Formats: sequence, C-alpha cells, structure tokens
Amino acid sequence: MKKFLIIANWKLNGNLKFINKNINLMTKKIDNSLSFCNLSIAPPYVYINYINNFLKNTSISLTAQNVDIHLQGSFTGETSIKMLKDIGIKYVITGHSERRLFHNESNNLVSQKFILIKNNGLIPILCLGETEEQKKYNQTEKIFIQQINNIIKNSNINILNKTIIAYEPVWAIGSGKNANFSEIQKIILFIKKYISSLNKQVAKNIYFLYGGSVNYSNINTFFKKNIINGFLIGKASLEIENFIALVKKTEKIISLLNRS
Ligand code: PEP
Repeated sequence: MKKFLIIANWKLNGNLKFINKNINLMTKKIDNSLSFCNLSIAPPYVYINYINNFLKNTSISLTAQNVDIHLQGSFTGETSIKMLKDIGIKYVITGHSERRLFHNESNNLVSQKFILIKNNGLIPILCLGETEEQKKYNQTEKIFIQQINNIIKNSNINILNKTIIAYEPVWAIGSGKNANFSEIQKIILFIKKYISSLNKQVAKNIYFLYGGSVNYSNINTFFKKNIINGFLIGKASLEIENFIALVKKTEKIISLLNRS
C-alpha cells in the first residue's frame, strides 16, 4: 500500500525557538499515530542536521529544499547531494516555482538537479506549475511536457522511476486559492498518460503530490479516486497546532478510505 505523503515546506521561515517547539510537538503528537501517512519536513538548510538528530528514531523524514549541481569544490554558499546523502536526507525538492522565479532556475538546471538527486539514491520531488497567464493561454500541458522531456533527454525514461512529481500551480501557491479537484485530476492524469506512453511501469511508480494553498479546511476535497498521493504544504505547515490537526485529519480520512 502506498502511504500518503505530507511534506511541510518551511521555506525561509523559523528560528531555533520555532524549530524546537515544532519538532517537539510533532514527535510527541504525530510520530506514533501515523499508519497511513508519511510525514517529511523541509526546513531551512541551516537547521537541517540539527533537526535530523532529533528525528533519528522517529518515522518523520527530512526533505531538502534545494541542492547544488556540483559535488564539491569552490562553490561558496552551496550544498551538495553527497552532503545530503551523508546525513541521511530522504527527499530533495527541485523546480519549485520560487526557485525558478527568484533564482532564475531553468528547465535545464532543474533537470540536472533531478538526475543528480536520483542517481545518488535520494528521491527527487519535481515541482511543476503553471502561472495564471500560462493557464489562461492553455500552455500548462506544453510546459510540463517540455520539463519532463528535458529530464528524459538528459538521461532516460527510467530516471523517473520511483520519483515524485508535485503539481503546484503558481497561482495557487500562498494565495489562499487552491486548484479544485477536477483541475488537479486533469493535470495528473495528463502527466501520467504521457509518461505511460513512454513506459507504463515507470508511470505507475510515480507519486503525485498536490501543492498550493492546502489547509485544514480544504483537505477533504482532494481525496477522490486515489489521484493525489500526497501534499506539499507551505503556509499551513508553519502554524504547528493547525498543521498537526491537518495531518491527523488526513490520517483519519485515508484510514477510512482504506477500510471502505
Ligand atoms: C509551496 O510553496 O510549495 C506551497 C504549496 O505553498 P502554500 O501551501 O503556502 O501554497
């Protein structure tokens, strides 16, 4: 059974007080209560190994928000995949719209990162999302195919095997305006169909997350037909009591779906 994956992306937020409180509450209140969900935290880099030490004997994993394409050397300010592997990080995000927008990350760079993460045994989370403008002009499918093809071209179709694709419409991130289930379903099924046309088994082995203004009140709307395998959550993961309630609610919904 595929577990439902919830990733808390803390972005550039938090301090030691926030981290200590949040990790303490998560390990006490969520860790032992999850059977149908996996929880992962993507904290700012400076805290990642500190948190790692607290999570060692728990079921909660760590996600890196970014990685450099170089393995070592004179690249001031960067972190390599070898370092993430060294401390046991499980997932790495690549292609997040904030990195594409604020750090000019191109499809090509995102592809290089994706391939590097996968080839080093960590799990890449490829974020794909269209802007309001791209949505208006029906460019969503085209830009997603370009990104996927770019990855395949620089490697091969098997590079996508057992990886994660997060559909994150740019217009939904942090806006309070989530995509509705039928919009998400349409996109995920489109990507699945495209990858399936290249390799059926690889398509089956991809996890699909949705991200974009997911919160405690709207999660009920996302669980139909097993289309979404998890959430990538920004803003709603910063309010710890609400986030714990969201994780518990998700666990309950998934457990009921599994019984029916
Ligand atoms: C994100 O940035 O990945 C995200 C999903 O943010 P939010 O939940 O705040 O929309």
